[in-house]
Amino acid sequence: MSANATLTIALSKGRIFEQILPLLAAADIYPLDNPDTSRKLILPTNQADVNLLIVRASDVPTYVQYGAADVGVAGKDVLLEHGGVGLYEPLDLGIARCRLMVAGQPDALAAAHIGRLRVATKYVRSAERYFAARGQQVEIIKLYGSMELAPLVGLADLIVDLVESGNTLKANGLVPLELICHISSRVIVNKAAWKMKHNRVMDLINILRQTVSTDSFD
Ligand code: ATP
Ligand code: MG
Repeated sequence: MSANATLTIALSKGRIFEQILPLLAAADIYPLDNPDTSRKLILPTNQADVNLLIVRASDVPTYVQYGAADVGVAGKDVLLEHGGVGLYEPLDLGIARCRLMVAGQPDALAAAHIGRLRVATKYVRSAERYFAARGQQVEIIKLYGSMELAPLVGLADLIVDLVESGNTLKANGLVPLELICHISSRVIVNKAAWKMKHNRVMDLINILRQTVSTDSFD
């Protein structure tokens, strides 16, 4: 990589961090701290001019949009909510895969209903878009987590949430009802960094792209 500027990469802890590590290793980037044990939010790497920022998953696009990070890795769910202003989304990494789904009690859609269905979700924009496209009038209730609780206590008829195995739904007596879209994590790039640090950013993306496409033949 041509070294004339630092490269700052925004990531979230947890599954994205764990799943990106082997991809960063392919680009010869190794964090010098473990975000689970270190309290540092700026993690230095073996490359003096590459830093990782550890931020909330839903904040990754914001850091990249404003150029506080040049590059980020964020779930498509988060990008759909953010809207993508100020960002390019050049690469699907195929990691942290899951599905954005409508879920509820097994009879949620069959039950005769007076008034609008209430839908509890953290994914307000995606839920609004999905139901609007189907011409269904619903009332969206914004939650920040534990969506599975809402139908159990009469807060909502349905939820819109990420589903991987379905075990969390099942444990709460809920079932997946409709698929909204498949989700995976994407590389995002600040629009100014895309121009100003083009070679740097493209070198990283090209290595990641090769690694991802090789992995898919395993
Ligand atoms: P925070 O807790 O910081 O508000 P979060 O709960 O969305 O954010 P994570 O649970 O680490 O953070 O999820 C990060 C990303 O991983 C999500 O945006 C989504 O793209 C993906 N993801 C979330 N849940 C699953 C899942 N069950 N299986 C696979 N990928 C998932
Ligand atoms: Mg979480």
